[in-house]
Amino acid sequence: MNREWIRKAGIQSLVKDLVAENSVSSLSNVSASKKVADWLESIGFEIEWVEYQDPLGVPKANLVAVRRPLHATLDIGGAGYLAHTDVVPVDDWNTGFNGPFEAVERNGRLYGRGTCDMKGSLCCAILAASQIEQASQKRPLFMVVTADEEVGMHGAQHVDQRSKLWKEMIQRDVVGIIGEPTEMQVVHGHKGTYGVILRANGQSAHTSTGRGINANYALIPALAPLLALRDETETSPEYRNTDYDPPTLTWNMVIKNEPLALNVTTATAEVQIFYRPMPGVDLSRIEKRLRQIQQDYGLEWIDRGEKPSWYVDSQAPWIRQMLYLTGQDQSQTVCYGTDGSVLQDLSKLVVCGPGSIEQAHRKDEWVSIDQLNQAVEVYTQAFRKWAC
Ligand SMILES: [Zn+2]
Repeated sequence: MNREWIRKAGIQSLVKDLVAENSVSSLSNVSASKKVADWLESIGFEIEWVEYQDPLGVPKANLVAVRRPLHATLDIGGAGYLAHTDVVPVDDWNTGFNGPFEAVERNGRLYGRGTCDMKGSLCCAILAASQIEQASQKRPLFMVVTADEEVGMHGAQHVDQRSKLWKEMIQRDVVGIIGEPTEMQVVHGHKGTYGVILRANGQSAHTSTGRGINANYALIPALAPLLALRDETETSPEYRNTDYDPPTLTWNMVIKNEPLALNVTTATAEVQIFYRPMPGVDLSRIEKRLRQIQQDYGLEWIDRGEKPSWYVDSQAPWIRQMLYLTGQDQSQTVCYGTDGSVLQDLSKLVVCGPGSIEQAHRKDEWVSIDQLNQAVEVYTQAFRKWAC
């Protein structure tokens, strides 16, 4: 395999090849990462591996790659591209004409798990890099390819803590494009995530004995103040940020009981709370109120983790440059998260990639060939701008 092979293979066949590697987040992504590494090596990149075992002991691999200029390098600057190789589950996959890991082209669309989120985008970046002569580079071109983005961004955390090339990217202050699906819109901010479980514990017994303690009786009184807090976050200006649509934390509550039998007293009752932090919203006030409710009603507190929102100035030069390259006037914010939450030490980030988030995570995930071609074009120009 060599550089000519990648260029001639074309975007569709690269995507088909990578989609064929089943890298659902619960499984290992090592084989998919190796394929990416092979391709990158064939076009002149060096690879740094950042491997780990996920909490269930499954081997996972991140890679950070760099292609340096042939001659003396300028001390600062460079181009970067960031993606993940894991994909969401396929239990409900159903297009009627293909399996999830055999990408099939129909009516100008490529269907398959990961075509949109985000193996398609990654292939576009690799193809774009193959179109730039290493001899024309004055600064390095980096690629960061993570595992487990869909399930807590664990891969990005390992990159952030352990990768030497990642540290170099930060020191050099390179511009990094996160290629998540935005329909090639330029995105300068996204929301974060916050989750907590409040749990009441009772005691299970057959209801006929009268000896059980129903956990719901401790949880139910706490629900009214929680609901009031939720309502406040939806309506009070201090919890809103009108740069986002919707401009609220879009708080969600899920109530769960165990066991579910009608003749057994409920042993545990919990409410799971999830919302999406935005810049400028003081979350410590919400947490304080949640802690108060937890204490008042004697509930157990189980952290489900927090990922901060990510935001850069919409007037920042690299955002304006991406707008110019994509032929748009205005950048946007989005409400879903990316590895950008974890990788914010790189201050010059922008999110821009092919396909729509509406087409991802579905039983018939697809991306349009037009979008892929556009991404190859934009990434090529962006890499040229920042690495040449
Ligand atoms: Zn994604």
